Amino acid sequence: AHLARIDAVDEKVHAFLHVDREGALARARAVDAKRSRGEKLGPLAGVPLALKDIFTTEGVPTTVGSRILEGWIPPYDATVTKRLKAADVVVLGKTNMDEFAMGSSTENSAFGPTGNPWDLTRIPGGSGGGSSAALASYQAPLAIGTDTGGSIRQPAAVTGTVGVKPTYGAVSRYGMVAFSSSLDQGGPCARTVLDAALLHEVIAGHDPLDSTSIDAPVPPVVEAARNGNVKGLRVGVVKEFGGEGYQAGVMQRFTESVELLRELGAEVVEISCPSFDKALAAYYLIAPSEASSNLARFDAMRYGLRVGDDGGHSAEEVTSLTREAGFGPEVKRRIMLGTYALSSGYYDAYYGSAQKVRTLIKRDFDAAFGQVDVLVSPTTPTTAFPIGERADDPMAMYLADLCTIPVNLAGNAAMSLPCGLAPEDGLPVGLQIIAPAMADDRLYRVGAAVE
Ligand code: GLN
Repeated sequence: AHLARIDAVDEKVHAFLHVDREGALARARAVDAKRSRGEKLGPLAGVPLALKDIFTTEGVPTTVGSRILEGWIPPYDATVTKRLKAADVVVLGKTNMDEFAMGSSTENSAFGPTGNPWDLTRIPGGSGGGSSAALASYQAPLAIGTDTGGSIRQPAAVTGTVGVKPTYGAVSRYGMVAFSSSLDQGGPCARTVLDAALLHEVIAGHDPLDSTSIDAPVPPVVEAARNGNVKGLRVGVVKEFGGEGYQAGVMQRFTESVELLRELGAEVVEISCPSFDKALAAYYLIAPSEASSNLARFDAMRYGLRVGDDGGHSAEEVTSLTREAGFGPEVKRRIMLGTYALSSGYYDAYYGSAQKVRTLIKRDFDAAFGQVDVLVSPTTPTTAFPIGERADDPMAMYLADLCTIPVNLAGNAAMSLPCGLAPEDGLPVGLQIIAPAMADDRLYRVGAAVE
């Protein structure tokens, strides 16, 4: 049924870069066979899922939305892919994304943009716009995204779906193509809080193949999602998220959500996190710096595209020609920014300062969580903007992640869930819930209460 739905609508939506029709049907049949033999089935047996094209999939193309990996067929599965298979999930295919997860609109994909199912002329968010659009257009009931600065939560917000960035280190990064290793985190996307929890439980957990993977039990997210309740919970409203640049309808729905929390028994207080104002600046030094180092591996020798390998060019020229042809403008911009910020003489002024700001942000969160159990904010300052509107204005594009980026810098957990439609444009608004690291279950407890 989901493959038929993809056939019917994805020509318009363009959520998928690759539909693995045969693989999906084979897995579905294998699950059926297991069932009829009376064998024990995985926890998500037979449930179809859309996988962001940043996770390696053995025998199935993985492009990261880039020409540089065009034609590459990974010889191995990412840990997330492996866990999905072990849970008997049916992976339908790989979803569209901003190239190397750099973007907030999916317009930076080398393979064309994805439409927002609410209005196909608008962006579905990014970088994981394909995953969220697949959910919102009922092409899949579950999806996986990655969130370096907001790429799970922001697409969830603008498509009216649920997205969770787990605590840093909760979901293995093994086989997840690296953008900014100290920030990248895979996580679940779904249409309901409980669905997200069921998927969270399947993909999270310690992995010896990822040195930053947390070796501790996964918080009880499913139990929390089944017991939505905020009675007596202390909820902090981050004062710095709001005001100029925030759409009126977004703030209206957010204020109503805070009212609802209060009605349901939460104690609401205002919290100030003064360093959050500098989060965007710090992020755009740290993320490009790490990216410039991570992307050095795309040298035309190891994977995918190779240009100029005709006997007339040196190895260095082949690398250079391949990168020129294979990387898009945003990726090149980040590599240049990062290389500059890390260069000797500038390191302390840029990268070093950004790391200090990161510490301040972490301290603001620690102080806040000394007073409250969770923080709430709008997920994004505006609803989905028209495709093309911010394409030539990187700064305007970067602002889409104003409320989500501090969470990545501190390594905390956060969720975006729908909180209504903005009255002025009828488009979905997202509510962001933020919890301390390792308290991911709180997101689900609160999310399920207000859903
Ligand atoms: N939009 C942010 C960026 O472009 C975040 C992307 C992400 O979370 N992968 O870097």
